[in-house]
Amino acid sequence: MTQTEYLIVGASHAALSALQAIRMQDAEGSVTVVTRDDALPYSPTVLPYVVSGRSAPERVALKDGAWFEKNKIGFIRGAAVTAVDAAAKRAKLSSGEEIAYGKLLLATGAAPLLPPIPGLKDVKFHVLRTLADAVGLHAALPQTKQAVVLGAGLVGMHAAENLAKAGAQVAVVEMQPRVLAGYFDAEASAIIEAAFAAKGVKLMLGAKVSRCETAGKTIRVMTDGGATLDADLLLVAAGVAPVTDYLAGSGVDIDRGILVDDSMRTSVDGIWAAGDVAQAKGFLQRRENAQRHPPRGRRAGQDRRHGHGRRPGREALARRRAAQHLHLLRPAGGLRRQPGCRGGGAQGSRREALPEDRHAGQPPHRHLRHQRALRPGRDVGDHPAPHRPRFRARSFHR
Ligand SMILES: Cc1cc2nc3c(=O)[nH]c(=O)nc-3n(C[C@H](O)[C@H](O)[C@H](O)COP(=O)(O)OP(=O)(O)OC[C@H]3O[C@@H](n4cnc5c(N)ncnc54)[C@H](O)[C@@H]3O)c2cc1C
Repeated sequence: MTQTEYLIVGASHAALSALQAIRMQDAEGSVTVVTRDDALPYSPTVLPYVVSGRSAPERVALKDGAWFEKNKIGFIRGAAVTAVDAAAKRAKLSSGEEIAYGKLLLATGAAPLLPPIPGLKDVKFHVLRTLADAVGLHAALPQTKQAVVLGAGLVGMHAAENLAKAGAQVAVVEMQPRVLAGYFDAEASAIIEAAFAAKGVKLMLGAKVSRCETAGKTIRVMTDGGATLDADLLLVAAGVAPVTDYLAGSGVDIDRGILVDDSMRTSVDGIWAAGDVAQAKGFLQRRENAQRHPPRGRRAGQDRRHGHGRRPGREALARRRAAQHLHLLRPAGGLRRQPGCRGGGAQGSRREALPEDRHAGQPPHRHLRHQRALRPGRDVGDHPAPHRPRFRARSFHR
């Protein structure tokens, strides 16, 4: 049996942050990381670029074997933790191996939620959360003529964009009355909806999928409004749920996610949880699930929106935010590289979000200076280089 001082389950954002923190406090203690993914650590945020083909799957790793070796960290991939015996301080893996630990961090994130739609489990469908999902979706693009995307959140809209760009007829079915309702206000949603509609994407808003079935080689999707959609690809992007199944009988308290205190301790001594799987205490002691919070940058944007009401440049901001996430709104050629910036592509476009984040919480006049270059009718790709704020280039290397 393997013995380790620190055992970390999961190898994504939360796990990597914890690893760095552990090594800052304890350079020598034995650490083992276990992930059920058969891949080096990567960020799920890069997956839409793997689907589109902009990022090669073998180039998305955040850490490689040499990093684990250098930091004296054992890395076990392709093995899921299936049970935790908290009293004996042991974790059981799907390979049959057992690991005895001193301290345990649960960073198992979240997995796609499958709505209880009659017939869904009997048809072939895709989800998008792991590298393997993205590779599978990328491989399916060339053969896809008609696609149905269930859910108009970030994952669904990114996928719809990729499918439309690959030449498929795409229908998005969303029960909310607008797209990306969890991210944008109605005005911004309307801009995004118009951009997708202009590219031929059919948006069925306020509609629920009521049944799925296989009809020959086709997947038939029926909605509660009486519509029938035939597709050769169905993507289910209806949200996520924390991965906690392996904790049955462990004594770790679970509500919507693993309940943690302000130090991310669970109800069991010696066990912590972090990331999408954890349910922390929110503001005013409300229990909130970390994964339900928008990421910090977006949150800052939302706070500003609610805090200051309508301001000049609001549409430009909405367009810009939309453009950062959804490339359909960009002109051909996409974002230009900034002078002095290394890299580009997917990484470059994500990092365009940084300047706004850096201005979060500052008085409006501080960030209006760079908003001036963002007028309605334009988006980030349109701006001549001299109008772009210089700090953008510097922020690339943070
Ligand atoms: C397509 C897509 C786009 C996204 N875009 C953004 C974005 O723009 N901004 C943003 O802030 N967030 C975004 N997110 C969400 C973001 O990726 C997550 O919030 C983040 O990855 C959470 O990190 P985590 O470490 O908690 O869990 P996860 O990234 O979910 O990782 C969980 C880890 O646990 C492992 N694991 C799970 N169960 C077991 C088990 N039983 N045994 C062993 N290992 C296990 C998995 O293999 C994985 O390594 C996006 C997500 C997706 C899917």
